[in-house]
Amino acid sequence: MSALTQNATPGVLSLEPYKPGMPLDELQRQLGISDAIKLASNENPLGPSPKVKAALAEAIANQDLALYPDGGGFKLKAAVAKMHGIDPSRVTLGNGSNDMLEFLGRIYLGPGRAAMFSQHAFAVYPIVTQSQSAEAVIVPALPRSHPTMPLGHDLEGFKKLWRDDISIVFIANPNNPTGTWLPAQDIEAFLAFVPKQVIVVLDEAYWEYLDPALRGDVRGWLDKYPNLVVTHTFSKTYGLASLRAGYALSSPEVADLMNRVRQPFNNNSLALLAAEVALADQEHVRKSVALNNSERARLEAELARLGLSWLPSQANFLAIDFGRDAAPIHQALLQKGIIVRPTASYEMPNFLRITIGTPAQNDRLLKALQEILQ
Ligand SMILES: *Cc1c(COP(=O)(O)O)cnc(C)c1O
Repeated sequence: MSALTQNATPGVLSLEPYKPGMPLDELQRQLGISDAIKLASNENPLGPSPKVKAALAEAIANQDLALYPDGGGFKLKAAVAKMHGIDPSRVTLGNGSNDMLEFLGRIYLGPGRAAMFSQHAFAVYPIVTQSQSAEAVIVPALPRSHPTMPLGHDLEGFKKLWRDDISIVFIANPNNPTGTWLPAQDIEAFLAFVPKQVIVVLDEAYWEYLDPALRGDVRGWLDKYPNLVVTHTFSKTYGLASLRAGYALSSPEVADLMNRVRQPFNNNSLALLAAEVALADQEHVRKSVALNNSERARLEAELARLGLSWLPSQANFLAIDFGRDAAPIHQALLQKGIIVRPTASYEMPNFLRITIGTPAQNDRLLKALQEILQ
């Protein structure tokens, strides 16, 4: 190992880079085909609102791209604040919601400190923790045999493993890659348990897909718990993953801290505009969620017919359990031009995470699975 590598901080030294799914272009080059489909990264198969595309085209024609963007994100912040019925001083904007997870890591983590999160939780939590040379306290998930929420977050387990050096707790609701969710009253009880100087990140990247009856009173929680940070993204339901935009809702105090560590211009002008226009088109959100829910139900019925099982999901993907190493099935799907997400790195080697696509994409997936499993 060279001295340059050896001199990296201990956390970075032991860090493994995040492995994104295979890009469509790469598979198409490999197979010499042009009709591969990607059901691997939980993007909206309908794409963004058509109004976003029109606004971007107009902006590219008329905006002065040589100028720095609005570093304060005034208009988008105002739109987010209005939608959630809170003051703009409680909104922080990020280059994807990933940005906010990193801000919080920089503010609250470091050697001698710890972050707590669940087994099988989103891959960015361990990366943020380790990059700050902090310790990860990983709480075992609920058992696969759990009657209602197999492999879900176990908040009682979080309480049992509590330690005084924990500075951040990451909770994904619904979680990726499982799709599992938490009852709102359990989240509230956990917020009441956590010491008031410890940040609780409620990562709601899939919030729009969560059944409204299952959603908590986030605004009320924010008033009551100044240590709560709720993150949302424009990458999933809003169909803007390529532009990188997300936001956090928090107390003004924590928003101020995040504002200190962020890059001065962490959102580009096109992302700010696209997010603002996307937010205003809630009809597109409704349409996207409705398609997702009906296709998810159809996929579930067809998967049952194939003798497969999956984890309960309130998101735009299903974690399918093949009951054996899923790597060969992943490979076989690739050969048929279908990219899905292996979950071996999440300690779920028997599963594949499959994003709910358009009806035609889902038909192709089901046909391929049937052929592979025969
Ligand atoms: C996709 C995802 C995000 C969003 O990431 P962005 O940086 O906003 O694209 C955050 N959390 C979870 C759990 C996710 O699955």
